[in-house]
Amino acid sequence: MTEVKALLEQFVELYGGESSNPVRAFHAPGRVNLIGEHTDYNGGYVFPAALTFGTTMLIRKREDDQVGFASTNFPLRKHISIQQVEFRAEDDWINYPKGIIRELQKRGLSVGGYDILYSGAIPNGSGLSSSASIEVVTAYGLLTMEGQPTDKVEIALLSQKAENEFIGVQCGIMDQFAVAMGKKEHAILLMCDTLEYKHVPFASGEYKLVIGNTNKKRGLVDSAYNERRSQCEQAVKYLAAEYPELTLLGQLSLEQYRSAQHLIPDETVRKRAQHVVEEIDRVLQSIEVLQRGDLAAFGRLMIGSHNSLRDLYEVTGVELDTMVEAALAVPGVLGSRMTGAGFGGCTVSLVHQDSVERFVGEVGRVYKEKTGLTADFYVCDIGNGVEELRL
Ligand code: ADP
Ligand code: MG
Repeated sequence: MTEVKALLEQFVELYGGESSNPVRAFHAPGRVNLIGEHTDYNGGYVFPAALTFGTTMLIRKREDDQVGFASTNFPLRKHISIQQVEFRAEDDWINYPKGIIRELQKRGLSVGGYDILYSGAIPNGSGLSSSASIEVVTAYGLLTMEGQPTDKVEIALLSQKAENEFIGVQCGIMDQFAVAMGKKEHAILLMCDTLEYKHVPFASGEYKLVIGNTNKKRGLVDSAYNERRSQCEQAVKYLAAEYPELTLLGQLSLEQYRSAQHLIPDETVRKRAQHVVEEIDRVLQSIEVLQRGDLAAFGRLMIGSHNSLRDLYEVTGVELDTMVEAALAVPGVLGSRMTGAGFGGCTVSLVHQDSVERFVGEVGRVYKEKTGLTADFYVCDIGNGVEELRL
C-alpha cells in the first residue's frame, strides 16, 4: 500500500467514511539551500532545491463551517469555526494552517468547512523548512478545493506573509518560494528581492545530496542573525563614500568591492562584507560549472562557502564544522557545507552513491565522538514543488 493510501485509511478512521464528498491529497516538499548563505537580505542570490520528502495533506469538504485539524506528527487535534481563526498559543502547530486561512480570508476568500489530516516527513526545526511546507501545502490545497487560481509565486508570498504576521517569524521568501516552485532535478537560482528566478538543471548523476542534521539547538541564531544584518548595513554606509547609490551589498560586483574595501575601517564588518560579495559570486560560478556538468567544481564552491561562513561570517560553530570536516575526510565526497542560518541545523554534502553508506557511518561516528550528539542523515533527491497527488 502506498503511503498516501495508508494515510487515507487514517483519515477515514479519524473523520468517518460517510461523507459523499471526495478526499483529495496534496503534497509540498521540504527544501535545502545548496549555496548562497546570508545573501538573501543583502540583495544577492540563493540557490535552493525542493526535496522529495515533505508534507502531505488530505482534505475533504464539510457541510458546516468547521475546520478539523489533525497531524500524524502531533497529538493535538481539534475543530474550529472558520469564523474564529485567531492565533492562540495553546493551538501550537495548528496556528500554521490557521495563519494561511486567515491570510486567504484577508484577501476576500470565504473559505468553507473542511476536515484536514497532515503527515510530515521533514524533521521540525532543523532548517529544512517544515513550516514553509505545511503553509504552502495548505494554501495550495485550500485554493484548489475552492476552485480558485493557484499561482505558485502568489502562494509563496501569502505563505511568507502568514509566517511573518500570524506566527511572528520574520523569515525571508526563499523557503516558501522553493517549496512552492521546486522542480524535479533542478535547483532554483532566486533573487529574493525581485523574485527573479531560473530553474537550473542539477544532474547529480552518480552523486547524492546527503543532508546531515547536527541536532544542535540553534540557540544563538536570533541575536547573531540581527547582528550580522546590521554589520552588512554598516558596510554599505562605509562603501557609499565610493558608491553613493549603493543600498545593498549585493549590488556590488566582486571587483567593485575589492577596489573599495579599504573604506571599511572595522575589520569585522569588512569580513562580513567580503563573505557576502564572494558568496554571491560563488552562486554565479555554481550556475556556470553546473551548466558544464562539472560537479567537482561545484563541490569546491560548496567547501569555499563553508570556509567563508566559518572564517569570515562566523556563523558555523563546532558542531557544523566537525560534521563538515568529517564529511570531507570520506572518499567520494565532492563538497560539504552548512546550510541555513548556521550555529546548528544541517549540513549538505555531495557524496558518490557508492560512498553513502560509509559516509553515514563514519560521519555519524566521528560527530558523536567529538560533540557527544547523535546526527541524523537524509539521502535526498531533488523533487517537485507543491502539487496535487492522485489518490
Ligand atoms: P523548520 O521550518 O525549520 O522545520 P519551524 O520551527 O519554522 O522549523 O517550523 C516547525 C513547526 O511547523 C512545527 O513545530 C509545527 O508547529 C509546524 N509543522 C511543520 N510540519 C508539520 C506537520 N506535518 N504537522 C503539524 N505541524 C507541522
Ligand atoms: Mg521554518
